[in-house]
Amino acid sequence: MFIDTHCHLTDSYCEGVDNNDIICRAMDAGVGVMICPTADPSDIPAALKLADTHKNIFCTIGIHPEYVPLDAEQYLTESVLTHPRVVGIGEIGLDYHYGADNRAQQIKLFEQQLDIARKYALPVAIHTREAEEDTAAILTGDVGGVMHCFTSSWNLAKKMLDRGFMFSASGILTFKNAGEIRETFAKIPLDRIVIETDAPYCAPVPYRGKVCEPAMVIETARVLAQVKGVSLEQLKTLLAENVKRLYPKIEL
Ligand SMILES: [Zn+2]
Repeated sequence: MFIDTHCHLTDSYCEGVDNNDIICRAMDAGVGVMICPTADPSDIPAALKLADTHKNIFCTIGIHPEYVPLDAEQYLTESVLTHPRVVGIGEIGLDYHYGADNRAQQIKLFEQQLDIARKYALPVAIHTREAEEDTAAILTGDVGGVMHCFTSSWNLAKKMLDRGFMFSASGILTFKNAGEIRETFAKIPLDRIVIETDAPYCAPVPYRGKVCEPAMVIETARVLAQVKGVSLEQLKTLLAENVKRLYPKIEL
C-alpha cells in the first residue's frame, strides 16, 4: 500500500467535500494509510476525531506560521501529544512569502514547537517557503523529521540530509516545469524520501486545477519511480519502510 504522509482532511480545508468519500477513494486506489497534519489550531479536535474513528488515519499536530502570534503550549498539550494516534508535530516552520513583518513572531512560534518536539521526542513536519537560511539555522539536527512538500534548493536539501531529515515529494514533482525539483529528488537517497499530496492543494498531473485528494498520491509515486529508476512495486515497499522510520509511533 501507498501512504499519503501529509493530507489535510479536516473540515475547514475541504469544505463541502465528504471525508468518507475521500478516504474510500484513497483506499480503492491503494492508498492504505493517511497522515493528517494540522495548520490552524482550531482544526486539532477534528484531526483527532478523524484519527480516532479511522484505523488508517494518523495525525501530526502543529501550528503553521501563518497563524502567528499564538502560544503553542495552549494547543500542543500533553494529552494531545501523548494521544496514541498523534505521530508527530506539524506542520510547523517558516513562511516569508507574504512579507517580512512577522518574522520574529514566526521564529518564536517555530522554536517553541521545536522545544515541545524535543520534550516529547516526536518527529516534526516542516513547512518552509522563501525562508531557507533561517530554517537551516534553526533546525540544527537535534530534532528529526521531514521537510514536507519539499521544493527548496539542493543546497538546503544537502544541509538537511546531513541533519538526518527526510524529504516529502508532493504533486509538484509531476509538474512539467518542475525539472529542478526532480533533479533534487534524483540526488536524495531513496531511504530518505516519502510522498504526500498536501491535499486539498497541489493536485498532481493529470489532475491539476482539481481539488487534490489522497488517492492522487499514486501519480507522484509514478513520477518518483521514474526519477529513481525503480519499479512502482519496489518503491511502494521502500516508502512504507521510510514512513515507519520517520514516524515510529505509527502502526502499519
Ligand atoms: Zn500542508
